[in-house]
Amino acid sequence: MTRTAKPSLTACHACGHTGITPLPGLEPLGLVSSDCRPWTGAGRLAWCPACGLLQKTVDQDFLTDCGNIYGSYTVYHQAKGEEQQVFSPAGAACARSEHLLRQVLSRCPLPECGRLLDVGCGNGVLLKSFGALMPGWRLNGLDLDERSREVVLALPGVEDFFACDLEDASGSFDVLSMLHCLEHVPGPAAFLGKALDRLKPGGLLLVQVPDFTANPFDLTIADHCTHFHPQGLEAVARRAGFDPLLLDQGLVAKELTLIARKPLLPAEAPSSATAAADPRPAARQALDWLGAVLAQARSLAKGPFGIFGTSIAGAWLFGQLGDQVRFFVDEDENRVGHDLFGKPVFRPADAPDKASVYLCLPRPIAEAIRVRLSGIGGCLVLPPTFPITQPLESL
Ligand SMILES: [Zn+2]
Repeated sequence: MTRTAKPSLTACHACGHTGITPLPGLEPLGLVSSDCRPWTGAGRLAWCPACGLLQKTVDQDFLTDCGNIYGSYTVYHQAKGEEQQVFSPAGAACARSEHLLRQVLSRCPLPECGRLLDVGCGNGVLLKSFGALMPGWRLNGLDLDERSREVVLALPGVEDFFACDLEDASGSFDVLSMLHCLEHVPGPAAFLGKALDRLKPGGLLLVQVPDFTANPFDLTIADHCTHFHPQGLEAVARRAGFDPLLLDQGLVAKELTLIARKPLLPAEAPSSATAAADPRPAARQALDWLGAVLAQARSLAKGPFGIFGTSIAGAWLFGQLGDQVRFFVDEDENRVGHDLFGKPVFRPADAPDKASVYLCLPRPIAEAIRVRLSGIGGCLVLPPTFPITQPLESL
């Protein structure tokens, strides 16, 4: 046997441990890309006993999938580039990033002036919301390529756009934001270490990632290489040298939000953060629930059938059912009236009578929507309870 200095492609992408444990069960469920397109690919789940992270095996198949997804990436294609909206219990719509920032600023007030870098800025939705709420700040965006340069630079308050690695962005920052980015990055603790270097002492990091324990659909996303639960995200931040200030599962439904501070003085020794709690029982529950969702939807789709929701979960389910899906339903006015995968997107009130409208969402969100929209045309169907408490055949 020869020794090689190259890391094994089947080692833990977070800590390099070579004994990651496969976690079967995702393969029959199918995948979706993070820009909400049905995806055919490898998608192998694994768990690292050394650092505790639930992950996709970052092998050549995974890297090929990511290359293909990012090569044709379209943010918010369902809404022609407009940001996803969130809805209050009364149904009032608000851009997701504005909702998040209002929540964050109420818990962690910022000075009137400062310098912010948004990592993975896309077409600048967070910068736009941040600039409106904090007009005294100088804003910067960083992304993988030049595609959004002009759009981002045209936003009020934006001083620069970087299409480079994080360590090459010039200057230092008071706040660094990273929304729906860290779950894509192999080596998340090392990546946060680069973020630490870009922050001024005492500077703040704002991270949001999907919480697979609240949103099982996260496991089906082909290009997410880490699937976080609260302890996993906290462990990664501590390992990178941050002091977590707030870790919240409720600021935005089904997402994990972390605010962490860069210490004023450099740490004298590496963090002694321990491995995250074993996420495998929660992953098993999530996979079982996804299997039950698929079985229930397949049964309903023998009759007239539409999917409520046009994002990750809706695209994933469409990928499994194909033309058995007759239509989509969405409350987001940016999405209504467009076709999605060749199917019409209706307002809830316009859903065809006598069709099943499947609330393809985490159960608590689906329940809230059904209460709010009781009385629409089609029959709103809830997904199974989570975790599964009844045998699949009885659903
Ligand atoms: Zn590891």
